[in-house]
Amino acid sequence: MDGSQTAWRRERILRAAVREGLLDPENALLAGFVDLDGVAASVAALHAAFPDVPTLHTFAAKANCLVPVLAELRALGMGCEVASPGELAQALAAGFAPERIVFDSPAKTRAELRHALELGVALNVDNFQELERLDALLGASGTGTAARLGVRVNPQVGEGGIGAMSTATATSKFGIPLTDDGNRQRLLDAYAARPWLTWVHTHVGSQGCPLELIADGVARAVGFAEEVNARLGRRQVTGVDIGGGLPVNFGGEEHTPEFPAYVAHLRERAPALFSGRYRVVTEFGRALLAKNGFTAAYVEYTKSAGGRAIAVTHAGAQVAARTVFLPEAWPLRLTAHDPTGAEKQGEPVPQDIAGPCCFVGDLLARARPLPPLDPGDLIALLDTGAYYYSTPFHYNSLPEPAVHGARVHTDNTVTFQLLRPAQTLDDLLAHTTAPQAPQPAPDQG
Ligand SMILES: *Cc1c(COP(=O)(O)O)cnc(C)c1O
Repeated sequence: MDGSQTAWRRERILRAAVREGLLDPENALLAGFVDLDGVAASVAALHAAFPDVPTLHTFAAKANCLVPVLAELRALGMGCEVASPGELAQALAAGFAPERIVFDSPAKTRAELRHALELGVALNVDNFQELERLDALLGASGTGTAARLGVRVNPQVGEGGIGAMSTATATSKFGIPLTDDGNRQRLLDAYAARPWLTWVHTHVGSQGCPLELIADGVARAVGFAEEVNARLGRRQVTGVDIGGGLPVNFGGEEHTPEFPAYVAHLRERAPALFSGRYRVVTEFGRALLAKNGFTAAYVEYTKSAGGRAIAVTHAGAQVAARTVFLPEAWPLRLTAHDPTGAEKQGEPVPQDIAGPCCFVGDLLARARPLPPLDPGDLIALLDTGAYYYSTPFHYNSLPEPAVHGARVHTDNTVTFQLLRPAQTLDDLLAHTTAPQAPQPAPDQG
């Protein structure tokens, strides 16, 4: 899909959402949308980009953990990567077969490890202590589980543009650092002693990481797999899980970088990956969902302060925590729409786009040139299909917004599918009340 088409589809979806009351200035102030046709196109692009070796593409559930979204991805042929008991439960609820689920948390408890082994979910061990826990659970032979078991290595390739998103620095908390003193030998010994360790996993980083850096990290993980097999004189490592982390273009409509560009870097730097000697697992999250989702919110008031125009909207830190707290790292494109959902025309003027939260930094954008906004207009936060409305922040007891899947048909009609209902005040109270606690008597008077 090219850029103008994406913008056109977004406007169709917004207008239909207003007509159907999914956005309403009294009753539905804020909502998330997933362009389901866009998701299908992104998944198809991923599948087409990888060479013809046995590959399981899993979706990183943390990028958008809504069960119907996961179910849609399953129907499109994806597996699922999970990093907590909650995500594992969501993946199972979405119908993923255990052997198509990968469990990657850095803090797996003994009970979580046992549960994953019983289910036959693939596991990537994060550290040497976790490996000892697995020994205890599996017994010496390591038989009795169908799960694919691997170790997450940290290739220590360094930092990308956003420190908090670079997982393969020298001191990263993730995985076993490959180049630290003695670690490589210790890991080789660990594989030698455990014939059931048959996978190698790495995940280099995400937003801000250049493709070269990610591909270099994967190359070091593949190099380690080759070394294990060469040392042991047998093909013990049969698969490499290369993680996810393809960055997203938050600056324009184009879906760049594209999967084929990444695959080209992998072919160049890690040719053994596609030699046919290894099965491959990928774990993309944002690259599949971010640009296929947006958030829409009503403008409640407009005002001015110190000469700056301010639009107070219903979208702030509760659905855009990263952008509000780290505005330089996570700028979002915003579009202005009239009450029908049509994109507003008009000479852009700098406006602060504020959220509803009670702290002064709750801004989606500062001095952003946009057509002048009025109360009752809508603001759309683009590229927010991953890590935004799907993982809300519960500040000010603001409710989680509804999320709708949308499909634009060839006759230009739009149909919606509810992916998550809006949180009601009753839901909210239930989550913030201890049911057994005696209720204080209401104030008299
Ligand atoms: C977050 C994460 C992913 C997905 O990252 P994206 O940047 O969303 O593609 C994949 N694997 C692991 C281990 C992760 O922590």
